[in-house]
Amino acid sequence: MKNRKKRTKKGEPQRVTKAVTHIRLEAPNASKLCTLDQLAQIYLALCQQYVTLFCTDELPDSFRAPCFQTELSERWQRVAIQQAVGIAKSWRSNRANAHRDYLDAFAEYKEQEAEGTLEAGAKEPEWREWDIPTLQQTCIQANANVVKLEAPHDSTFEYWLMISTLEFRKQLFVPVKLADYHIEALTDPKTGKRRRINSSVALNKRDGAWWLALSYDEMVPVQTPPDAPVIGIDVGIANFITTSDGKQYGTFNGKLRERQKRDREKRRRKAKLRKCLEKKGVKNPPSTSSATGHRLIRHVRQEINRAVNLCFTEQEGRQFAYEQLSVRTMRHKARAMNAYMRASNLGHIPNQIAWNATKQGIAATRVKSAYSSQQCHVCHYVDRKNRPNQQTFCCKVCGHTTHADLNASKNIAARLYDEELRTCTSRDEVKALLMRRHEHWKQKFRIAVVDPPIQSGLWASSETSTDVG
Ligand SMILES: [Zn+2]
Repeated sequence: MKNRKKRTKKGEPQRVTKAVTHIRLEAPNASKLCTLDQLAQIYLALCQQYVTLFCTDELPDSFRAPCFQTELSERWQRVAIQQAVGIAKSWRSNRANAHRDYLDAFAEYKEQEAEGTLEAGAKEPEWREWDIPTLQQTCIQANANVVKLEAPHDSTFEYWLMISTLEFRKQLFVPVKLADYHIEALTDPKTGKRRRINSSVALNKRDGAWWLALSYDEMVPVQTPPDAPVIGIDVGIANFITTSDGKQYGTFNGKLRERQKRDREKRRRKAKLRKCLEKKGVKNPPSTSSATGHRLIRHVRQEINRAVNLCFTEQEGRQFAYEQLSVRTMRHKARAMNAYMRASNLGHIPNQIAWNATKQGIAATRVKSAYSSQQCHVCHYVDRKNRPNQQTFCCKVCGHTTHADLNASKNIAARLYDEELRTCTSRDEVKALLMRRHEHWKQKFRIAVVDPPIQSGLWASSETSTDVG
């Protein structure tokens, strides 16, 4: 776990942790797995206590002294604390990001309110405090101190799983039988030997059965030469990916949008029915959560993965620059989408780009996203009005007109080696820098730009508006 999060320097081989999941545990006698059930119950209750502690009163600390009453051994308690630390850390950082996005959105709202450019029906963003996470699934992330994998002398199965139990020094032995595809995944194709399996394992209980997940590490060297040509990637809904050389990959429009509409209709009908049944006093009316909705999300993600793969295949030999989407940019890029689709899928695109790049040893670098879609690629002028609609970019000053996504992807490509922009610490600083560059551009090309007298008024007004930056 620790290694996966360690950041490698640019150009260094990256450690990729790969999981081999869905290894079903089948004990010859049922009582063995009953012992595991019992253990899991106590374990999860304890883990939950630490999750709550680390999300509220204390900062997550893997070395924290045990402080709750439990039957579990000290080793098991440490495992529970570590698992709780992981959950609390990601909850805290997701919450902090969401809160920052909210502050951003709030600032943008106030900005637009002051300018008088609020869209009809726009609401002031509100912050709703997050709930503390509750452990709903039975999942134990164990280390070698409590769960060990050992090769047996017998050859009818691959491993013994040795699990420490509630009873002092008593271990549970569960045979692990691997399917052919598990064995294939755990074999290094280069040497034909079994890979080194990581000592931490995960035990999950789903649908009444216990499953084991193993993992191994692979070092993937970066293959891209440092002087490889740069391709900028803009992410969106109409086109999942637009590259700075003008290519487009994948779309949410068409089939996926039709499916989403149908799903929304279905949910609406269900909600109506539910209300109606509730009025009549029916207990436990059908839930409005939709299985087709989950299927749709999976499907959208598959389409995204396909688009990213195709882009990487076609753009072989290049390196990539892409932007990390914040809620603010997502909102901007997907105005007509419902919040759920937006949050769950648009954000999947940069994640998939990063994962694909790491896996294949391709250089892909995240760059700042601030104003990438409002900035003119030619003269650097930044203005929301440069975007008369979602698809079009038309610069208010130099008149540069192109597809909005293409303009953005070119800005993103240019930001890869832009050290000055990288050091900006806020959106305001980014805007100020771009506007300074715009001033330089104007000075350089002023002679070339002919201002007819009628337009001088317009010219002056756009200049006053640039003074903000
Ligand atoms: Zn321009």
